[in-house]
Parts: sequence; structure tokens; C-alpha cells
Amino acid sequence: MIIVLGKNITEQEKINILERIKENGLTPHISEGIEKTLIGVVGDERILQAKPLDGMPGIEKIIQILKPFKLVSRDFKNENTVIEINGNKFGNGDFDFIAGPCSVESKEQIFSTAKFLSQKGIKYLRGGAFKPRTSPYSFQGLGVEGLEYMREAARLYDMSVISEVVDARDIELCYKFVEVFQVGARNMQNFNLLRELGNQSKPVLLKRGMSSTIKEWLMAAEYIMLKGNSNIILCERGIRTFEDYTRNTLDLSAVIAAKKETHLPVIVDPSHGTGRKDMILKMTLAAKVIGADGVMVEVHPEPEKALSDSAQSMNFKEFDNLITEVKKLKWPQ
Ligand code: PEP
Ligand code: MN
Repeated sequence: MIIVLGKNITEQEKINILERIKENGLTPHISEGIEKTLIGVVGDERILQAKPLDGMPGIEKIIQILKPFKLVSRDFKNENTVIEINGNKFGNGDFDFIAGPCSVESKEQIFSTAKFLSQKGIKYLRGGAFKPRTSPYSFQGLGVEGLEYMREAARLYDMSVISEVVDARDIELCYKFVEVFQVGARNMQNFNLLRELGNQSKPVLLKRGMSSTIKEWLMAAEYIMLKGNSNIILCERGIRTFEDYTRNTLDLSAVIAAKKETHLPVIVDPSHGTGRKDMILKMTLAAKVIGADGVMVEVHPEPEKALSDSAQSMNFKEFDNLITEVKKLKWPQ
């Protein structure tokens, strides 16, 4: 349920309400909006039958949320969530770019990529160090060494690092290297990982599972937010359908749905979404038109030599052209 507090509520009335919630064994989540302050109450609300909240001074109204995701829903918080990453604001209405190689392969590779991207004004550097690959025989990433290279490159070029964590046991290890933890499509419903990330003070980029519904994706975000971390960026990266012309079917309608249902920023990954670099530019333009908060694009100094996702990685010139074209597109017009 959501408790809407009255405009003239006193500090003591607020304390009383929070205590009543807690003494019922429930957890309050406060959302201080510009217009209103709300308290989201999660847990078994039937307990409140004994000591109900109705009629307590300071409460304007109580709304029941029937959706399976609550804290991430716009019913709980209508204003868009803006996430602060190293002094930059993600989700504030700009169209942001996260770019970098699929995998960190060497110091030279990540440094040259970071140098190029920073010259183009890109603030967010992606790169996989722990690579979940479909085949166990494929390159599995450089691990901590990869994270160290990324951190150094990001420091030198004033960028923020986004990298995937595949196991809850690695969070502590990864913490000092990244600004944003990425949860990959294959881990979207790894609930232990989600819960642990919910306890962290750094943002999470949550990719949609390749066979997950929009509702399941939002419920995965709810797992994180329920633990206290509301800095979540959702990322549509394509779903598995019968179509095999493209690697995945990029579900842009899911972005429209997610923007409508949640206050969290939503981005698109046209690289994994299509698996083909000839489609990335147009899918990025489409992402901007439908109101996405940005894109995550795979960029490599020599894509033909990339150890993973070669066919969907752009070279510097192609990515430069992408940024130019996206900036030219004024939307909304
Ligand atoms: C990635 O972004 O490197 C990645 C592995 O993507 P996904 O989890 O969407 O397959
Ligand atoms: Mn990849």
C-alpha cells in the first residue's frame, strides 16, 4: 500500500506513522516528491488489521497497489528517478551514451577506446571483465585484471565504469572498480544477486532477460529496490523469438511500456538487441524517438579482431557517425 501524507503533517505525526508500520513488522519506504511525500509499505499488509493506519493524523489517503511491482511503479513515485553517477545526472531528460567493448581484452584496447570516447564527450565506459558466454569454450574475460585496466582508463579520461557482476560473491571485489554494476540478461532473475545489489550504495544497470516479460523485468527491479537501492537503470537488450535474421528481437515497445509503468530510467542496447552493426544507428534513433534515456553500444578499436561480439561492435568512425546523427535528430521536435 501507499500512504500519501498530508501537506501540513507534523514531524511527530510522521514519526508515529512510521512507528506504527514498523511495530507491525512491515518496512516503510519513503519517497519525498516535489508535490507529495509518500510512504510505500511492503510486507504482509493483513497484519495491519490489528492496528490499522486509517485515521492516523497526518495521513491524507491510503492507496492499494494491485500491481506485482510496487516501489518501482509510477503509483509509488511519479517523477522520473534521476541517478547521480560521478557528478553526472542519468535520466534527467538527456539522451545518454554508454559505450565500450563487449570484453576488456587488453590494456591498450581499453585505453584507446576510453581515450576516443572521452574525446567525443562520452561519460560512461562499458566493458565486460567476467564474461558469461553461451559456450564454455569461448573467451571468459580477463576478470579482475580487466577491471583494473578499466578503472585506470576511466580515471585517466574522467569516465565512469559500468561492468557486469555475475555472482553475488564478486560484488565486494568489483565494488571499488565500478560506478555501476551491470546485471546481464542471463542473470535477471538471479534473486540472490539482485538482493545483494539492493544492499549496495552504487547504481545497478538491469538488463531484461532474453525470455522475460516486461512484468518479470520490473519485478526483478523491485527485488533490488526493496532492499533499499533505488538507483536502477533498466536496459532492453532484445528478446528471443523465432526470428533468426537478427541475434535477438529488439523489443522497443517494452521501452515505452517500462517508461509508462516505472519512474526508473530506461535505456536500449541495440548491439545485443540486433547482433548486427548495420542496424545499430537506426535502432538508436528509434530509441531516442520513443523516449529512452539513452543507449549502450559496443565499440571496439578493431571490431574484426574482437574476442567477443565482433559482428555487433562498431569501430571508432562508425560510432562517431552514430553520435553525430543522434545529436542531429531533435526529439521531441
Ligand atoms: C553485455 O552487455 O556484455 C552482455 C553480456 O549482454 P547481455 O547480458 O544482454 O547478453
Ligand atoms: Mn557483448
